[in-house]
Amino acid sequence: MDLRELRYRGTQVAYSVVCERKLWLFSRGVSFEHLSEWVQLGRLLDERSFRREREEDFYDEPVRVDFIRSRRGLVVHEVKHSRAIETAHELQVKYYIYYLRKKGLEVSHGVIHYPRARQIREVYLTQEDEGLIEDALLHMGEVLSLSLPPPVIDKPYCKKCAYEEFCYG
Ligand code: SF4
Repeated sequence: MDLRELRYRGTQVAYSVVCERKLWLFSRGVSFEHLSEWVQLGRLLDERSFRREREEDFYDEPVRVDFIRSRRGLVVHEVKHSRAIETAHELQVKYYIYYLRKKGLEVSHGVIHYPRARQIREVYLTQEDEGLIEDALLHMGEVLSLSLPPPVIDKPYCKKCAYEEFCYG
């Protein structure tokens, strides 16, 4: 896949797993995240965790990685406050690895930190994963080309979603 096609933020890639409606709304600039207690809790936790390491933030539009540190090559780190949507976190980190490798960086693997649960999870990008990411990015393009948002999905995690009132109010 061409680098020019890698125009998505990691958050969008994660949202594509969580909910296509959320992906669509977020990408169109519809945001209630500043009003969501759950999102604010996550931010607070992110800010308090790894404060020192965060000086090593890597920012390269559209990708913002929590921090990268050399070990066996570069390691992508991502902090999450809940394990509820682990598949989405995993795809997000794999996307970062994929993106940075396409940029020519030698990224070894990723680590997802769950400070509340005091757990970490290592994430590796396989060749098969690369195909999955490319398929996901193509599908995201299709979702985002829709003129109306995809339907409400009615999942348990809707209750903790910043768009809950918008979708169910
Ligand atoms: S509340 Fe549910 S349906 Fe609405 S955007 Fe969030 S996850 Fe999707």
